[in-house]
Amino acid sequence: MRVAIIKERRTYERRVAASPDTIKRMVDKGLEVVTESGAGEGACFTDAAFAAAGASIAADATMALRDADIVLKVQRPLLGDEAGSDELKYLKRGAVLIGLLQPLRHRAEIEAYASAGIVAFAIELLPRITRAQPMDALSSQANLAGYKAALDAAVEFGRAFPMMMTAAGTIKAARVLVMGAGVAGLQAIATARRLGAIVSATDVRAAAKEQVESLGATFITVDEAAARSAETAEGYAREMGEDYRRRQGERITEILKRTDIVICTALIPGRRAPVLLTETMVAELAPGSVVVDLAVEAGGNVEGSRLGELVTTPNGVKIIGYANMPSRIAVDASQLYARNVFNFLTLLVDKDCKLKIDPADEIIRATLLTENGAVVNPALLPSATADARSAAS
Ligand code: NAD
Repeated sequence: MRVAIIKERRTYERRVAASPDTIKRMVDKGLEVVTESGAGEGACFTDAAFAAAGASIAADATMALRDADIVLKVQRPLLGDEAGSDELKYLKRGAVLIGLLQPLRHRAEIEAYASAGIVAFAIELLPRITRAQPMDALSSQANLAGYKAALDAAVEFGRAFPMMMTAAGTIKAARVLVMGAGVAGLQAIATARRLGAIVSATDVRAAAKEQVESLGATFITVDEAAARSAETAEGYAREMGEDYRRRQGERITEILKRTDIVICTALIPGRRAPVLLTETMVAELAPGSVVVDLAVEAGGNVEGSRLGELVTTPNGVKIIGYANMPSRIAVDASQLYARNVFNFLTLLVDKDCKLKIDPADEIIRATLLTENGAVVNPALLPSATADARSAAS
């Protein structure tokens, strides 16, 4: 069975869906692996390293995809005339496609996979159960995004993070506020702490308090009663009401007066990200302060952030809206993503190296988007998408 990995061509994307390590693992399992020449370039994996791990190297994407039974991707394949290329048309009917396919944001593309007879899996829909942890690409990528967000803030900040006592005087430690203490937020806290900052954090979920405090940061509670019901059965945050938002705004505005750096990471699956910092709140920060909006691709947590840009406000606050933060640390992000995808792949391939898609497996059920020419995922049924669309608009 032939597995293909091609170069990612979407803007801001440097990652790749396989590493020399996972290619070797696939080959050891009896799979034939083909990679497009240059597929690993953005992550510093050379064709020679891929070949040494057992891959054959195809001259271009068309050659790599030809006759592939399984295609591993980071981003959604290009469709129609996107970036001058249509990757989907080179996939054969019945081919398995695995990637971060963003099905809730790009429903029409999922229909296109169905029409093309593709068996598509969206890895971000994995249930967050213990068995799925080795495949959990959202976590592996968010973890690195949180780390990089703290570093990007430190780079743009015109002062040091740690307290320093020098003969010329004492430098005060920077004060960092992290809003949203999930996977990315917790890593941003840990990184800012390692750099020597004084860190505080807030989240709507009550469970976040203990995790924040275990990292040596201070937790800012907005509303204890609301926090107890803010978490869904899947472990994600619910969208909070107007009253909570107002109180959170007041509490945070107070804290911003003593804050140098804000790192925002708050997301609500399938919906627009909540606005946590309004323009008025950003104006509370002193000139030279830095805000990182990790949610910029989901609509943004910060008013005034712009996708892919560093914006400086009239009062001298820098707002970082860099796109695709995990791709800014592409080597590690690719290593971890490749392992996530390989672990997922082992669910689909039996010991005789044949495709085996078990509909009774809850991981398969949750991630399978299309099969036999139809959209089959429960999260994409008309009622579910209408709900998500109206919330995202
Ligand atoms: P996420 O990326 O969906 O959101 C990031 C954070 O933003 C979350 O902590 C969320 O509570 C917070 N948030 C949302 N709205 C907010 C608001 N208005 N104000 C402040 N904060 C807000 O979340 P995530 O990082 O993917 O993690 C969600 C949960 O899942 C966490 O509890 C995490 O520990 C858990 N998790 C479990 C597993 C597993 O068991 N396999 C794996 C990964 C994560």
